[in-house]
Parts: sequence; C-alpha cells; structure tokens
Amino acid sequence: MLDRRIFLASAAAVAACGRPSASEAQPDTSAGTTASTPAPGAPSRREGAPRIVAMGEASEDFASFTREDWRARLTEAEFDVLRREGTERPGSSPLLEESRAGTYICAGCALPLFRSETKFESGTGWPSFYTHIEGALETKTDLRLWTPRTEYHCVRCEGHQGHVFEDGPEPTGERWCNNGVALDFVPDTAT
Ligand SMILES: [Zn+2]
Repeated sequence: MLDRRIFLASAAAVAACGRPSASEAQPDTSAGTTASTPAPGAPSRREGAPRIVAMGEASEDFASFTREDWRARLTEAEFDVLRREGTERPGSSPLLEESRAGTYICAGCALPLFRSETKFESGTGWPSFYTHIEGALETKTDLRLWTPRTEYHCVRCEGHQGHVFEDGPEPTGERWCNNGVALDFVPDTAT
C-alpha cells in the first residue's frame, strides 16, 4: 500500500509540533457534509473524495496542458496559486485545522506531496511541514522579493505549492510553507 510505503516519519517527530490543536481529539466532520448537491455545471473534480494518483500512474499528460486547460480544471483560487504562483491569505485554509492521519496531495494532479506526521503548527497561518514525500517536489530560486526565497512546486504538474525556509523544527530544520488551496487532504481511512 502506498500509505505504508511513505509512512516514514517516527512518532517522536509529532512532539516537534508547536501548540496542540484543540480539535485533535475529534475528527473533522465539517468537510464533506456541506457538499450536498453540486450546482449544474460545477467542476466535476470537486465531487466526492479526491483520489490519490501515485507517481507513474498519471492518467493525463499534464505537461501538455495549456493555461485554458488548467483554468477549466481548477477553481479560480487554485489556479492563482498553482499556475500563477499566487499566495493565499494567511489563516484562510481549512487544512490548518486538519489533524487526522492522512496524505496531502497536489490539488492540480493528485500526486502525494506530504504526510500528516510531518505537519506542524508554525504560527504563520499556512499549513507547514518539516519535510515532503521524497521525489514529489522540486525547488527553484524565487527572486520576486528583495530577499531571494526558495520556491517549490509539484514535480508532476509543475504547480506552485509554496516556499521552503530553514527555520523549521527537528528533525530537518526545514519549514515547507504551503498554500492550503494547492492541496487536497486524503485521510488514511478513505479508500
Ligand atoms: Zn501536481
């Protein structure tokens, strides 16, 4: 199983997280219950739970996608981050409260990017991880601000995800600061 293979983080790593989440004891049932009847013409990819599509299993040739293809596939907020390297408003992502065990996948192509065991509370208002699933992300230098930053993106669809900094917790000391809108979450209990 994919989840077994990528379950690399030790339980000790969880202790590196900042303040414990008050909602940790209870599974979040708010997501999924509100999506009742989609409006006619609503994007089909938002119906039902996202499906993990592992490396090498891509059903579509993402490299050939045009901007219009991506516009049709993504919501406006997803398009702004993934295809225009935008940044979501801090504190706006429901994934900040997500504390269940599971996998965070690319909202563009469903490639698994992060595991819940590596998520921590950074206090920045963006979902943060101390490492990523091996081979899932690539980095490049972002020179748009006065201080160069390291941008990272999905290795499969090249969608922008966030920036990585070197002020994170043990065991890596890295902080992968991710736009929540660029991710979908798949709990381990989902099949
Ligand atoms: Zn992707």
